[in-house]
Amino acid sequence: MAKNEQECWARVKDRLRSSVGDDVYNSWFARVDLEQLNSEAVHMSVPTRFLKSWIQTHYAERVLGCWQEEMPNLNRIELTVRTPVRSIAPAKDAKAATDERRGERSDTRAHDGGRAAVSAMAASAGHEALGGSPLDPRLTFETFVIGRSNTLAHAAARQVAEGRRGDPVMFNPLYIHAGVGLGKTHLLQAITFAGNALGQRKVLYLTAEKFMYGFVSALKAQTAIAFKETLRAIDVLVIDDMQFLQGKSTQAEFCHTLNALIDSGRQVVIAADRPPADLESLDDRVRSRLAGGLVVEMGSLGEELRLEILKSRVSAARILHPSFDVPLPVLDYLARTITHNGRDLEGAINRLLAHNTLSGQAVTLEMAEREVRDLVRPQEPRRVKIEDIQRVVARQYNVSRSDLLSSRRTANVVRPRQVAMYLAKTLTLRSLPEIGRRFGGRDHTTVLHAVRKIEALVGKDTTLVELLKRLLQD
Ligand code: ADP
Ligand code: MG
Repeated sequence: MAKNEQECWARVKDRLRSSVGDDVYNSWFARVDLEQLNSEAVHMSVPTRFLKSWIQTHYAERVLGCWQEEMPNLNRIELTVRTPVRSIAPAKDAKAATDERRGERSDTRAHDGGRAAVSAMAASAGHEALGGSPLDPRLTFETFVIGRSNTLAHAAARQVAEGRRGDPVMFNPLYIHAGVGLGKTHLLQAITFAGNALGQRKVLYLTAEKFMYGFVSALKAQTAIAFKETLRAIDVLVIDDMQFLQGKSTQAEFCHTLNALIDSGRQVVIAADRPPADLESLDDRVRSRLAGGLVVEMGSLGEELRLEILKSRVSAARILHPSFDVPLPVLDYLARTITHNGRDLEGAINRLLAHNTLSGQAVTLEMAEREVRDLVRPQEPRRVKIEDIQRVVARQYNVSRSDLLSSRRTANVVRPRQVAMYLAKTLTLRSLPEIGRRFGGRDHTTVLHAVRKIEALVGKDTTLVELLKRLLQD
């Protein structure tokens, strides 16, 4: 995809985020990808049918609006569901690739990844026959990197996966919550693969969406009982993206299922983007049942963990592309600058890989900086202090700082003083009374007056204030 399209898309996402707020954005838009763009239509994809219909019914116009600010002639958005199972190397290719490499370097990690993927694929075939959601064969314990933020969640997940039939259930349900891209789905699918591979218990992985659609369509087909029976034949039920479980009848059914499973000593594992107490639309009984097991949060990925994830992604990519190489300084750079989530780390490696294989150019720091520009989290705006504001404004207007704090009312100090108060209000979190105190003990109404006055002026001439803001912020 052309660079300017990606940049355009990044701006659209920013606009969308500020229009709907972080929470809504993370719930519904974080996983939207841009597929194609032309002057009239934009084609985007989402991972699930549920997200697609939700966005279409609730946010279609807003999304279109955000695009139209970039491209006024755009009149249509298309949303499709992308296939959740990403392709992996067939068994013999993985082996051939490793054989080729053997001798020049012994990278057993990539090899293990390949073998794990193959057996994971076999396990997932059986799983889909049970009616489970499709699994991504790369999301196994072997490829899950452990760090400070996920040690506990990982240990609990292992424990669950390694349980044998008849073992006492230690924590039920196991409830894992974390923000987007921090590894919930990875961990849940790892449990599913490992549990089924052990052959002791039947592990079923369902997205909340699949649970809902499965249930709703089963009702329509008059086979609700069959559906319940299937579920109840499961030893471990794994439900992903619990926050999407909506609707009274779905929740009632979920509640029955949960109770039936837990009461009969079977394991339930749940992931959501927030703790049980924050699942607003959920029935109180369900919520307390969820909170009654082990609730573990996974924190954001630290820099070390990000670096390890990047390394493991690169060795996975090398199974198919043995000549792909990312120098350590580039990995360091990515780990340092891409702080959003695991999905962006994966995206970054994919772009480097695409660039490398398509252009034949080696991966360099310069290329990496160019390719991942839009994934880099903008620097947090610097915290501005009131003293800085006074200093910068005084210099700009050629008065002294003590003039600003004094009680002088000549025009040449009144205006800069008002500008400084206005900036203090808009660039810091200080209250009006506090700002008054810091400007020579003035009353908060004086500050308010100054803010209003400058606000009115700013409407006419923004250049000066913008300039000052910039001076203060870099
Ligand atoms: P979530 O379900 O929490 O939104 P995912 O499990 O889909 O996040 O993770 C997003 C991406 O980041 C995936 O490619 C996943 O493999 C990767 N990832 C996240 N955490 C880890 C980890 N600890 N080790 C390896 N990869 C990880
Ligand atoms: Mg997920």
